[in-house]
Amino acid sequence: MRPIQMVDLRQQYDQIKAEVDAAIHEVIDSVSFINGKAVHDFAGALSRYLGVKEVIPCANGTDALQIAMMALDLQPGDEVITPSFTYIATTEVVALLKLKPVFVDVDPKTFCMDPEALKKAITPNTKAIVPVHLYGQAADMEAIMAIANKAGIPVIEDNAQAIGSDFHFSDGSTKKTGAIGTIGCTSFFPSKNLGCYGDGGAICTNDSVLAEKMRKIANHGQSVRYYHDIVGCNSRLDSIQAAVLNIKLPRLDQYIAARRAAADAYDAAFAGHPKITVPFREKNNKHVFHQYTLQLEGVDRDGLNQFLAEHKIPSMIYYPVPAHRQKMFAAFGADQADLPVTDWLTGRVISLPMHTELDAEQLQFITSKVLQYIN
Ligand SMILES: *Cc1c(COP(=O)(O)O)cnc(C)c1O
Repeated sequence: MRPIQMVDLRQQYDQIKAEVDAAIHEVIDSVSFINGKAVHDFAGALSRYLGVKEVIPCANGTDALQIAMMALDLQPGDEVITPSFTYIATTEVVALLKLKPVFVDVDPKTFCMDPEALKKAITPNTKAIVPVHLYGQAADMEAIMAIANKAGIPVIEDNAQAIGSDFHFSDGSTKKTGAIGTIGCTSFFPSKNLGCYGDGGAICTNDSVLAEKMRKIANHGQSVRYYHDIVGCNSRLDSIQAAVLNIKLPRLDQYIAARRAAADAYDAAFAGHPKITVPFREKNNKHVFHQYTLQLEGVDRDGLNQFLAEHKIPSMIYYPVPAHRQKMFAAFGADQADLPVTDWLTGRVISLPMHTELDAEQLQFITSKVLQYIN
């Protein structure tokens, strides 16, 4: 059996090595390392894939979120509603821009922003709503957009973990996650569902005025070289990373199918176990399984993690400390937030290996060891 990894980038690279190597060499040969053809090609291809008018590539997913918030002209002290049960980047940029994070609880089944909690958290100072499509499952965008539109508040989707997911609306229409809110942000960190070979990110929107502004912000506030209209930053996707993404984007749906097949195998093995809750799959969206995360009941989680490690099976807790309990946010009084579902989930989730190259033998070994420990 091949060694089991949380994310097996090596095996995936081996399948596309010839193409990737050639594309990288082409960039080097062109010496067009910044803003080269590969970057423009990728932006076009991603906008077609997502069904969104504008794609602005940038340096990473965290920058994407920051640029989105800068473009909305948020002022110090403005409130931004986000879940606490997420990767720190979502909430960190809120604090970085001197905005006020308002943490809301998540739905215990989907791990995503609870629309009822969102409704209650809105105040006259709420200036943005940032749902996160955690682990690859979309937040309830139909409910969230209805609430946001009624209140006239822009929505920034954190799509770093769910690129490629489809959301089905009750009127029969379907949109890709990241293309639903005012702005969508994603990351191409190597382990993400569409990962490059370094850092990368993108912002997308159907609003061309916002797009123009975000393009400017990502490029030192200029659209004409050396004429700086607004304060921006330096955030670019480099041509070599774009070249890798141009090879991988056409395979994204196939990668998602491989992740879903691995999730199906896990689900089948754990079905009906009284101490295990498998990931819930909401009917209105397609789970793209960035993570495969179980909820455990009455199981020594550290013991399981240890036992699996002894059998060379990695497992992870995403995330051991929710944002509202991070020291970073103590000054905001965030630990006073009442988020019972978030605290409850934090103590019982465990993520198993999930990537595009898991084979039947590995899946069988992982599930048998999990069940051996738990039974
Ligand atoms: C990875 C991730 C980010 C940040 O992306 P980077 O490219 O690492 O900066 C933001 N939000 C979520 C939910 C993520 O998983």
